[in-house]
Amino acid sequence: MLDLVIRDALLVDGTGSEPVQGDIGVADGRIVAMGRVEERGTKTVGADGRVVCPGFIDVHTHFDAQVFWDPYLSPSPQHGVTSAVAGNCGFSIAPLSPAAAPYLMRMLSRVEGMPLESLTEGVPWDWTATSDYLERCEGNLAINLGFMVGHSAIRRVVMGEAANERSADPQELAAMCTLLREGLAAGGFGFSSTNSESHSDLDGRPVPSRFADRDEFLTLARVCGEFEGTSLEMLPRGLGRMDGAFDDDVVDLMITMSREARRPLNWNPIIPTASDLETIEARLAMTDQAAARGAKIVGLTFPIDHFVRFSFYHSAAIFDLLEGWAPVLALPLDARLQALRDPEIRARMRAGAERTPNMAHLTRWDTLVIVETHTPETASFTGRVVGDIAREQGKDPFDALLDVVVADGLRTSFSRRHGGPPEADWAARFKVVDDPRTVVGASDAGAHLDRSTTFRYSTGLLEEYVRNRGLLSPERAIHLLTGAPARLYGFRDRGVLALGAHADLLVVDLDRIAAGEVTTVFDLPAGAGRLYSEPEGIDHVVVAGTEIIEDGQLTRAVPGRVLRAGVDTTTPTLAV
Ligand SMILES: [Zn+2]
Repeated sequence: MLDLVIRDALLVDGTGSEPVQGDIGVADGRIVAMGRVEERGTKTVGADGRVVCPGFIDVHTHFDAQVFWDPYLSPSPQHGVTSAVAGNCGFSIAPLSPAAAPYLMRMLSRVEGMPLESLTEGVPWDWTATSDYLERCEGNLAINLGFMVGHSAIRRVVMGEAANERSADPQELAAMCTLLREGLAAGGFGFSSTNSESHSDLDGRPVPSRFADRDEFLTLARVCGEFEGTSLEMLPRGLGRMDGAFDDDVVDLMITMSREARRPLNWNPIIPTASDLETIEARLAMTDQAAARGAKIVGLTFPIDHFVRFSFYHSAAIFDLLEGWAPVLALPLDARLQALRDPEIRARMRAGAERTPNMAHLTRWDTLVIVETHTPETASFTGRVVGDIAREQGKDPFDALLDVVVADGLRTSFSRRHGGPPEADWAARFKVVDDPRTVVGASDAGAHLDRSTTFRYSTGLLEEYVRNRGLLSPERAIHLLTGAPARLYGFRDRGVLALGAHADLLVVDLDRIAAGEVTTVFDLPAGAGRLYSEPEGIDHVVVAGTEIIEDGQLTRAVPGRVLRAGVDTTTPTLAV
């Protein structure tokens, strides 16, 4: 008797091969039969011709804090993700020390857009070693989760305040190497870092890893290379400037890190638009340069429309970069609401915004669109352009926006108006997705909770490229979500349907597949909100042979495991 049999499926195995019809049998968490399966199962799922494929592998997430309040890591499993990698960009929360904890919590709230009140209330912050943290997560996960060891965490634990002030001395660097070794020996997935200008903490200072010199980056990368099955991940300086290749010293640093560690290094995000294709091509050329030097650099590309929302509900919004805004936005919710009612404070904020020229793209108030409202009184403004509302009401656009926001108790979300030729952007996205120098991903799931809808990348890819546009065959699209990321990180027995592979499986209805409508749900610790969508067409999700989603609904089972480098991965190939 098998544990699970899925019958009458179109088997798409994750390698890109043509689909075949058949059944699949599971015992002890592994695939033990494929094709015509005669044996019965304790549980049987009828696929009725739907696709059965490996669960999706999301290599760029920030689930490090969410594990403590949401063992399901929703909504990623609903979107078909069965394995993910957290701790990216240097922002792991292990290792930890009592002195580093308050800093890392505040840093994370800023750089990854997680509400500070949720991080304070929802995370215990009481472990020290990476091994303690991993043990804490074990047994409490619906999906499988690997963790990078983050540069900013180890630097802050070793150097305290000085981590945000200067380069490390030799003793400090040696102590960082020790912490990294301990984390990787415990199963950490690799070394992650950033030197991107986009990463500043809640006080506006660069995050710790941005104070590292070249020697520190290279030394830590080499430590990563001591451990089987590890990878490098890093956000490069210049990421936000869409004006061509990264600076030569950044390119050389990333290539040298990869070459000396003998590990692939991935960076992200690539957000293709027609107007940015030249810059993207210049950046992808880094992969060719790396290959010529015996290294491997891969960019993670986000495959669908990158729709970003804003609100005044969370304290750590992007708007704190506007001159004079940070103190207002740091107020507790009620006080912030009062402040945003006050005409004098509004006048000061409006003037401060005008004095912040590099944010002008965000502060053309008349061009913003109200995306979601939350009261009967504001419902009629949903989907409308702020400038039109202002004209109708005879108000200044900033006042018109804030009046809606205040009436909504600050929960309104709004967005920049979408311009440009969307079809040209789809062509650009496809070109980059189709490029062997990229891997599909950059979901940032678990981060930018009130702003970003990128967690829908997997179902979005299937909806847009397979169902709506016919740009990719089902087997190719599923390969991009399974076999390709598995290869990048060296996943062992995952990302593929094969005898002996882990039974992390999906039943997918490609005729119905859709990423789902995004709404705000207020289910985070301390009542904070996040963007959320439930897709159509991901009907069953199986992890280690146990259903975590049955007919589209979470079963509340937690069969996931902490993935450990060297056990769940082998050293990934340096071939592109
Ligand atoms: Zn990230």
